[in-house]
Amino acid sequence: MEFPPAKVFDYLVIGQGVAGSFLARALIERGKRVLVVDDDQRASSSRVAAGLLNPITGMRLRLAEGTEEVLKNSKALFAKLEAEHGKTLFTPIPIRRIYDSEKERQLKASRYESPEYAALMSEDDVPNGSGTNIADEWGSFVISGGGWVDLPLLLDLEATWLRERGALTSGAIDADELEPDGKSGARWKDFRFSGGVIFCNGYKAGFARYWKWLPWQPAKGEIVDCATDERTISWILNRGGWAIPLGDGIWRSGSTWEWKLLDEIPTPELGGQLKSGLQRFFKKPINAKLVEHRAGVRPCVRGNHPFCGTHPELPWLHLFSGLGPKGTFWGPTCSALLADWLCEQKPLPLRFDLRREVPR
Ligand SMILES: Cc1cc2nc3c(=O)[nH]c(=O)nc-3n(C[C@H](O)[C@H](O)[C@H](O)COP(=O)(O)OP(=O)(O)OC[C@H]3O[C@@H](n4cnc5c(N)ncnc54)[C@H](O)[C@@H]3O)c2cc1C
Repeated sequence: MEFPPAKVFDYLVIGQGVAGSFLARALIERGKRVLVVDDDQRASSSRVAAGLLNPITGMRLRLAEGTEEVLKNSKALFAKLEAEHGKTLFTPIPIRRIYDSEKERQLKASRYESPEYAALMSEDDVPNGSGTNIADEWGSFVISGGGWVDLPLLLDLEATWLRERGALTSGAIDADELEPDGKSGARWKDFRFSGGVIFCNGYKAGFARYWKWLPWQPAKGEIVDCATDERTISWILNRGGWAIPLGDGIWRSGSTWEWKLLDEIPTPELGGQLKSGLQRFFKKPINAKLVEHRAGVRPCVRGNHPFCGTHPELPWLHLFSGLGPKGTFWGPTCSALLADWLCEQKPLPLRFDLRREVPR
């Protein structure tokens, strides 16, 4: 079958969230012709996300393997996009981690003995040591190197960049409409893709028969924006949940975790709980009024590392998903690694390669 040149590409990318946007750019910059097809779902995980970039996370205060390099890659990509688009996308802000218990304080002390942790952690502040309205009865410390990314703005700017190159169109792709074409090529409707199809459609990739076998653990999350009269604090706050000062007294706070009911509908009761949770960061009332409440589904997976790479039996199918709660952290590094794999067959590190899940 003859395909007109306008219908011939190297890759079809399904989805223009964080994964699809970063990967499409990485491929285009490597000289590939890419068509991204996105179904314009306004409550995608990437558009709902707070955009937090936090190097030390969770109850166990863990640094992921290779954090220094990963952070460097994320910030380099955000700086490049800022320069290209002339807009601020990444706001670096220190993160004040507020202790929940004496046990947590001891855990931090033991982490602090290792130079890679100490490079990103301050010494402890005693309770009330920050001299602000923060409630910190066990004290706190500051994590550097983080901040937050305006993901909806980034995605809008990247959508325009892709459209200008004829690389983005609206539409919903049904995986059953995809067909192989030769060894590693694919067809979708009257388009041909010599390098195949890359699923970048978040947790929904796990519903496609090709990827069902992977250990997906999608998790719904909700966040709120509240208008308050607390304008003096300029740290991101983290104590179980987190709160980000967006400026002018607006605080973004979250987030919830739900594994059974997976939809993008905000739950009014949880909105109220998140608003009360925000108050708990502070000693004095902050008069919070809910101004926005959003819900989305994170593409979480077993092992907490993204799924990148090629289907073990179908060389025309590729996947970039599983960014979990850390799209801003893993997205830039993994999109570059996957583009190198697709364009130059540079092997992916096993921890990111979806083939780590193939039974041996
Ligand atoms: C409440 C909440 C808070 C979060 N906070 C943070 C945070 O602070 N920091 C952080 O780094 N991460 C955070 N995350 C996680 C982050 O959102 C994800 O890691 C990341 O955005 C996932 O990106 P993705 O591109 O894989 O998926 P998605 O963002 O879901 O993008 C998938 C895209 O594919 C499209 N699509 C789906 N199916 C089809 C189809 N069949 N055809 C065409 N298009 C399709 C969708 O419309 C969407 O545009 C949060 C998530 C939630 C829900």
